[in-house]
Amino acid sequence: MQYVSTRGQAPVLTFEDTMLTGLARDGGLYVPEHIPTLSTDEIAAMAGQSYEDVAYTVMRPFIGATFTDTEFRELIAAAYAPFGHAARAPLVQLAPNHFLLELFHGPTLAFKDFAMQLIGQMFQKALGRKGERVTIVGATSGDTGSAAIEAFRGLDNVDVFILYPHGRVSEVQRRQMTTPTESNVHALAIDGDFDDCQARLKDMFNDFEFRDGVKLAGVNSINWGRVLAQVVYYFSSAVSLGAPHREISFTVPTGNFGDIFAGYIAKRMGLPVRDLVIATNQNDILDRCMKGQGYRKGTVHASISPSMDIQVSSNFERALFEAYGRDGGAVAQLMAELAEGGFDVSQGAMEALRENYSSGRASEAETSATITKALAETGELLCPHSAVGVKVADERREEAVPMITLATAHPAKFPDAVEAATGIRPPLPARMADLFDREERLTRLPNDLAALKTHIKETLAL
Ligand SMILES: *Cc1c(COP(=O)(O)O)cnc(C)c1O
Repeated sequence: MQYVSTRGQAPVLTFEDTMLTGLARDGGLYVPEHIPTLSTDEIAAMAGQSYEDVAYTVMRPFIGATFTDTEFRELIAAAYAPFGHAARAPLVQLAPNHFLLELFHGPTLAFKDFAMQLIGQMFQKALGRKGERVTIVGATSGDTGSAAIEAFRGLDNVDVFILYPHGRVSEVQRRQMTTPTESNVHALAIDGDFDDCQARLKDMFNDFEFRDGVKLAGVNSINWGRVLAQVVYYFSSAVSLGAPHREISFTVPTGNFGDIFAGYIAKRMGLPVRDLVIATNQNDILDRCMKGQGYRKGTVHASISPSMDIQVSSNFERALFEAYGRDGGAVAQLMAELAEGGFDVSQGAMEALRENYSSGRASEAETSATITKALAETGELLCPHSAVGVKVADERREEAVPMITLATAHPAKFPDAVEAATGIRPPLPARMADLFDREERLTRLPNDLAALKTHIKETLAL
């Protein structure tokens, strides 16, 4: 299996190099050259299987020769062993034919663990074999950084530095980043906002001397390995509700479009997905785009679902690549226009997008009201991101087709918003109840490239 860039100008890579590289050299995102399919029988055989067995069947065709079958099974087993639920991604019923897919039983209580835990294992294996060591640097508004630290802590071939905006992540998120004791984990509190952190990260990747000197690697949401790991739970959940013998719809709380794009891949692989609903908060560039208003940057408004507060949705480029008939030149042109503010989607591409996705948005008040209502009607405490999904799903669902809404984080990760809506402060799961007693370790740094580079080099003793 080979991978090509959405902008058509970067070298074709294997799965291993795609994963280790992250962003393509032409600025594009890597996608598989073709999308493999599973037969109806192969999908039907997943009924009753463990999450790990489904994961193996779904991901194996994408891996090529990067890992042997035995190695890949071992990596999957190691990735999901730390989860706090035997089913890994259990389904809970909310209403007749409406189900919640709980993706928050991983070590940091958000769905990003599904991808990051596997990426950690795959990096470790691939790098160990080559005798190489890399420095992973990431920027986070909260969930990605904690998931990355949890996935890479204690691994031999990786140092991980995470930049987060000082004073602007929740206490649970911060403690998840600052309390691991392993010496390869480095939490950096930056005096700035999330955009500053992301800008400094980009600066580091564009500084080729530094980049090569510390062997910089990235694991942000555009990494194909992350998208791939997320395809699995679309299969596992749909099969438990009767697929491939019936159609299933999904609603996905969406920010950078990685999670919902994984749902599209599942559909292309043969899963009978009827509706794939993009649910956005008040930062609704995707909903506006789907309504035919073009793809235009606005300003980011802080919301109670902060992990979806985005200005541009980076993985949407992969959806555009498909909608434009895999024309890398056309995508490169659109991205150049986006840098100037935005673009209109052609009529043909718009039709292709609407064939695969629909959309809706939830305001702050609607999100909060949904948390209140869900507790009253079902006893479930929803995190605000999941509530955005449930609200939009309720508008879109059809009687005859089961709707699965993805619950992307545990309510205890966003206790203030949940308490404001319900009066209940959700407790952390017992296995991490001592989080507030653990000692914190972090370095506070100015929003300055030179200071960051010096700090990282000194830490690595380079
Ligand atoms: C990252 C995140 C999202 C958005 O996922 P994308 O793949 O970026 O669309 C939604 N909810 C939570 C809790 C997240 O951490």
